[in-house]
Amino acid sequence: LPFAIAGKVPRVKDLIVYPHSLYRMSDIELHLETTVEKILPKKKKVLTSKGEFGYDSLIIASGSVPIIPSIPGVEKDRVYTLKGIEDGEKIISSLEDAKDVVVIGAGLIGLEMACAFRKRSFRPKVIEGENRILPSLLDEDMSKELKNHLVQGGIIFHLGSPAKEILGNKNVEGVLAGDEEIRADMVLLACGVKPDVHLAEEAGIELGNLGGIKVNERMQTSLDEIYAAGDCVESLHGLTAESISSMSMLGSTAVREGRVAGINAVGGSATLSPILNTTITELAGIEIGAVGLNSEVGLQSGFEVCSIRFEGSSLDPFFPGSEKIVIKMIGDRRSGKLIGAQIMGKERVWGRILAISFVMQKGITVEELAALETAYVPSISPTFDPITLAAEMLLRRMSQ
Ligand SMILES: Cc1cc2nc3c(=O)[nH]c(=O)nc-3n(C[C@H](O)[C@H](O)[C@H](O)COP(=O)(O)OP(=O)(O)OC[C@H]3O[C@@H](n4cnc5c(N)ncnc54)[C@H](O)[C@@H]3O)c2cc1C
Repeated sequence: LPFAIAGKVPRVKDLIVYPHSLYRMSDIELHLETTVEKILPKKKKVLTSKGEFGYDSLIIASGSVPIIPSIPGVEKDRVYTLKGIEDGEKIISSLEDAKDVVVIGAGLIGLEMACAFRKRSFRPKVIEGENRILPSLLDEDMSKELKNHLVQGGIIFHLGSPAKEILGNKNVEGVLAGDEEIRADMVLLACGVKPDVHLAEEAGIELGNLGGIKVNERMQTSLDEIYAAGDCVESLHGLTAESISSMSMLGSTAVREGRVAGINAVGGSATLSPILNTTITELAGIEIGAVGLNSEVGLQSGFEVCSIRFEGSSLDPFFPGSEKIVIKMIGDRRSGKLIGAQIMGKERVWGRILAISFVMQKGITVEELAALETAYVPSISPTFDPITLAAEMLLRRMSQ
């Protein structure tokens, strides 16, 4: 959606990947515009707006809903959230006569949208209650570096003061953040999403501590023959010492979980390994990848955090087109293992964050990562890959 709003994907409708014919060809009966109103586990039935359906196995994939902050003014015209295609269409048509666009929230969606608005020649203003952008993903230094890049690109930030009110009568005129009134005639609320669990809760399915549906590694809920997957579930985190769950809220996690739930629901056997929340995005020409925990969350989770910041180049420095690549690596002194990494650069971030994600899934130590066999050709990758150099630096720091 942010790419469609930026104009990179020509039409919002192009975002629909699978046509209805594909479902028919796969023998899947698709019932659109049909709302499930109740699950009756004892009768193995669901009641919907278009009648009853019986089931042998059920998978709940009810997703998530945007979090609306409880501040005055959120109900005004031209205050939007972004979740589905209709939201995208409304935002695009509202931009036609908008002048001052404000985004509340500097998470992934808030920033992707701010960049989309910038691409359409607005000077978007982003309000964030925390004192840094992407606070749950990046360490402070990485966040600062990214912010400087986005400011240079024309995005205006108001950090450290949460939005208190959306001002105006029927229409939006501004946003109050701290004591400052920020002019706005359109506002996007990008304050995160929460799992949509009301159907599950009403059916008596157990929820976890974070408010998502509790599932085991087979994506089974607390009730027989009912599975759940995607944004509505709590997934087991691969790094926390005890069995602590995490709300992943990533499409990449949702499809993996959906596959496991689907296999098990029809009598197969599949398990989901704990998640690391491997994330990638692109903001104003910079790729940002992250996996595992940032330093702050690492400390809160009881790790003996040790981190380094490494600046290398995406190719051999002599090679034309070589770009700076910054790597933050976070290790745990006690186990010698990597618990998180963040990478930022104009190119070649994706493959590196995937490689780190893989080694983390395998639980290898920082020492082993420093010795990783990598490939070399000047036009694609340097002799010593930045991820092994960063690991070497972290290893030295950990042994001090
Ligand atoms: C703007 C935006 C950009 C994103 N970009 C990325 C990205 O680049 N990479 C990434 O990994 N993730 C991304 N995500 C996150 C990703 O979209 C979600 O993690 C993913 O869609 C979750 O899938 P899901 O099937 O669990 O839930 P959803 O996609 O939310 O689908 C749930 C569906 O269930 C339907 N539903 C709910 N209740 C009922 C009911 N009672 N009866 C019938 N139907 C019902 C809903 O209408 C909805 O269609 C993005 C999210 C947004 C909003």
